[in-house]
Amino acid sequence: MTTLLVSHPACLDHETPFGHPERSDRLRAIDKVLGAERFSALTRTLAPEATFDMVALCHSEHEIGEIRHRAPKEGYAYIDADTSMSPGSLEAILRSTGGAVAAADAVMTGAARNAFVATRPPGHHAEIGKPMGFCFFNNAAIATRHSQRKYGIGRAAIVDFDVHHGNGTQDIFWADKTVMYCSTHQMPLFPGTGAANERGDHNTIVNAPLRAGDSSAQFREAFENTILPRLRDFAPELLIISAGFDAHYRDPLANLALDGADYRWVTQQLMDIADASAGGRIVSVLEGGYDLQGLSESVDAHVTTLMKG
Ligand SMILES: [Zn+2]
Repeated sequence: MTTLLVSHPACLDHETPFGHPERSDRLRAIDKVLGAERFSALTRTLAPEATFDMVALCHSEHEIGEIRHRAPKEGYAYIDADTSMSPGSLEAILRSTGGAVAAADAVMTGAARNAFVATRPPGHHAEIGKPMGFCFFNNAAIATRHSQRKYGIGRAAIVDFDVHHGNGTQDIFWADKTVMYCSTHQMPLFPGTGAANERGDHNTIVNAPLRAGDSSAQFREAFENTILPRLRDFAPELLIISAGFDAHYRDPLANLALDGADYRWVTQQLMDIADASAGGRIVSVLEGGYDLQGLSESVDAHVTTLMKG
């Protein structure tokens, strides 16, 4: 069975102000890597646009209305100091979410064993009622709920190794015992949430914060001691990865020191979990990663490992 790659050129048209780290060159860098001959076995598909009904699985009507009508005819419309929309943003946002949903459909129907969704903007900071931190709709969360509704998935897990805490995903699933959310992230750092004592209403939120300067050893320890045992006990029937690569040592937004070997390792660990309880089903959704060389190396490691599944 194959690994599916989901992307769409319209995701380049979400423009951000000059100097903004979340820029379309990120996807160009990924395209270049995954265009290499050794990735020719990937099945490639274009991300469809999500419907607003799909978005409503995780977001309030107020938030959907805000995004739906906010894109400017020219220039930028600011949602907050870091988060803005350009004329092409709405389509990119909907394809980013729709790509995650399409990837979930593919692994749930058996069309693919696992999938990587190389779209932007990212999603894990988007809360039920609040877009923030470069994020508009929570792609990973929506794909998770979609899979539960459409395919009757009882237990799903979202594992987030982006260097920032996925406050949005935690917010959406805080009181939902059917979804486990696990995160490693640098703390303190934006957005400020993610302490180990934030556990959700049903103890299904698993936060393993790391400190500035931490590298491979501490990252792997957090997985081996905290996250992997909890995932094994939970036995998810579907595993979603919020795949941010900004914990790479080259990344300008944070101070962890991971490299390609760490992303290879964590991907393999998560594939072992998925093999044990989820029939190997993994949907990996791009979140952060802002140094183009670090991002390229990390995505190479991550997708190469997914393809071995
Ligand atoms: Zn991040």
